[in-house]
Amino acid sequence: MAAARWDHSRRMWQGASFTWDLWYGCDYHCPYCWFEMDPVWDLLAKEHEGIPIERWLQAWRRIGERHGTASIDVVGGEPLRYPGVLDLLGGLAQWHRLEVVTNLSVPLEFLEDLTARVSPERMHLSGSFHHESADWEDFLRKIVFLKSRGYEPEVAMVAWPPHMGLIQEKKAILGRMHIPASILVFQGVFQGRDYPRSYTDAEREQLGGLVSPREREYRMHERRTLARPCGAGHVHAHVRANGDVLRCGKDSQYSRRMGNLLEADFALHSSPQPCPYPYCNACGEHVYLWEDWTKKAASTGWPLVEDSGSHHAAARSD
Ligand code: SF4
Repeated sequence: MAAARWDHSRRMWQGASFTWDLWYGCDYHCPYCWFEMDPVWDLLAKEHEGIPIERWLQAWRRIGERHGTASIDVVGGEPLRYPGVLDLLGGLAQWHRLEVVTNLSVPLEFLEDLTARVSPERMHLSGSFHHESADWEDFLRKIVFLKSRGYEPEVAMVAWPPHMGLIQEKKAILGRMHIPASILVFQGVFQGRDYPRSYTDAEREQLGGLVSPREREYRMHERRTLARPCGAGHVHAHVRANGDVLRCGKDSQYSRRMGNLLEADFALHSSPQPCPYPYCNACGEHVYLWEDWTKKAASTGWPLVEDSGSHHAAARSD
């Protein structure tokens, strides 16, 4: 297998990738958060009691031995509020590349500790800005700090209907600072209306210029995916806070699992499998649809690696 590597300019990773719900604790209560809308935070926190850091490190080391260096999106809840997270991320960075998605509510001193332990070659941070809970100036200060340390931070915001004007304004500010910002389509219910179906024409037009074409195609316009071969489960998987592994975020809506990361024999599928769902509108994982993925991999000029049964090649991008 070609050495897994990260290309900052194209934001693509060659190697297996995982999205990991480290835990279900968060210090914010955003009205558009899936867990708030349902509301299931307490239930999830009880069902997924903390797993000792040593067990996680053992499991991720095994993944490294079986599938090579992976890119792990560490999400939550708020991952940087997880007890002992500095030891956990410092340990993981021995084998894997980390993509931490954080609301940046931790103090600046905490970020100084984190960046002293894990270098930009091994970690990338995305700040999710939440208008109702966070202070914009404080958030920006932390983004600027991370940029000055070489972490190339990005910012994500949710296109919740009452925030449409604000996100456009903030995205323009970030653009002037050369900080990439991505806008996530809101999925859920607002004022009794189901989104994204209920965006008005004006909002759709506004979003058209803010979200990526793929995001529009699969999440807003719900392009069909049923039976199309998909690399989710083969080159990418979603890990829950109890170690259960799902092919993708959509599996969590249907309570399907492909194994548990903490089991010694867990491995990714050895080939792409048909998508079992009509739409891929959960977590932007449509990038793993095999036809698109192979085109994307080919466009990088990197060799496509044949599956040897133990190693995979994957590419990811927004
Ligand atoms: S197309 Fe989307 S919903 Fe279907 S398996 Fe792939 S990631 Fe999951």
